[in-house]
Amino acid sequence: MTDFITEGKVKIKVYKGKISKKLPVFYNPVMELNRTISVVLLNSINKNNLQIALPLAASGIRGIRFLKELKKGKIKTLEMNDYSSQALRLIKENLKINKIKSKKIKLHNSNANIFLLESSGFDYIDIDPFGTPNPFLDAAIIRIARDGILAITATDTSALAGTYINACKRKYFAIPLKNELKHEIGIRILIRKVQLIGAQYEKALTPIFSYSKEHYMRIFFKCEKGKKKVDEIIEKHGHYENSGPMWLGQLWDKKLAEKMYMQEKTDFLKIIKNESKIDVFGFYDIHAICKKHKIKQIPSFDVLIERIKKAGYKVSKTHFKPEGLKSTILLPKLLQLMK
Ligand code: SAH
Repeated sequence: MTDFITEGKVKIKVYKGKISKKLPVFYNPVMELNRTISVVLLNSINKNNLQIALPLAASGIRGIRFLKELKKGKIKTLEMNDYSSQALRLIKENLKINKIKSKKIKLHNSNANIFLLESSGFDYIDIDPFGTPNPFLDAAIIRIARDGILAITATDTSALAGTYINACKRKYFAIPLKNELKHEIGIRILIRKVQLIGAQYEKALTPIFSYSKEHYMRIFFKCEKGKKKVDEIIEKHGHYENSGPMWLGQLWDKKLAEKMYMQEKTDFLKIIKNESKIDVFGFYDIHAICKKHKIKQIPSFDVLIERIKKAGYKVSKTHFKPEGLKSTILLPKLLQLMK
């Protein structure tokens, strides 16, 4: 059974049923934001004429949204691949439904890694799989161009965020932490793993936009070449308490986060724009602090933010947790201001 849905500026035919790998061709409406943020990011960078690869294209929704929603001049070529021939048929149908006929588009029905390795390289590669991106990292990194952007989704957050410690060790070579910082730590562990694969090919991968939401984590990396750049990346790997190793550097390019918010003024992008300006590891979970320090009366969040700012520190809400504040303030001072 099929159905039509609209997302962004496109209309797409999808298979009906419970959202799972078992769908004949996968489509998850919850990932609309994931796709929208990719569109906003590509529209916010100063680059045109991109060679784009979607190695796990499924219904084609992401590619078709790129074709309809990216600014003029952005796309040089757009290649969509899926190893399922049913997916390929659906992609072709969805292109027709959206009246897209373009010489820029190439379709492939292959294993994602073979598709990537047989290509001559791309400026943007989007790895958006079921579960872990691990099986696709080598080929994607080998084929990402100098100054290109590699986008990675991971939906196995239970490993990264500390529910399954051994799974995290096996898949991401690090120890997660199951406390209020678990999503930020999980994303940093995933970043390091991708960077280690990059290091093998002398490619330095720096996160320019990262977030964790619902059941997934998402990171966009810019790729630079060279031993020295790679060494600088590895310098920034380290531990937090018993967790790690993980990436301790920036999660966002501040200017990009600002531009993305200007493109699309949503609350989500606003929080990220604000927190991107505070270059600190972790955040304060105000509820957890109250509990630990037996503080009964809490000032409202907005009052507390004002107090922290007045005292001369940077502060912002964080998208990682509604009760969280990212700030340059130290804990003893924060405790004073909370009372
Ligand atoms: N990116 C899509 C969702 C992808 S779901 C979106 O935005 O909607 C994952 C897709 O990857 C499925 O269609 C599946 O058929 C395909 N897939 C899984 N493993 C693959 C592999 N090794 N090679 C090629 N395609 C693969």
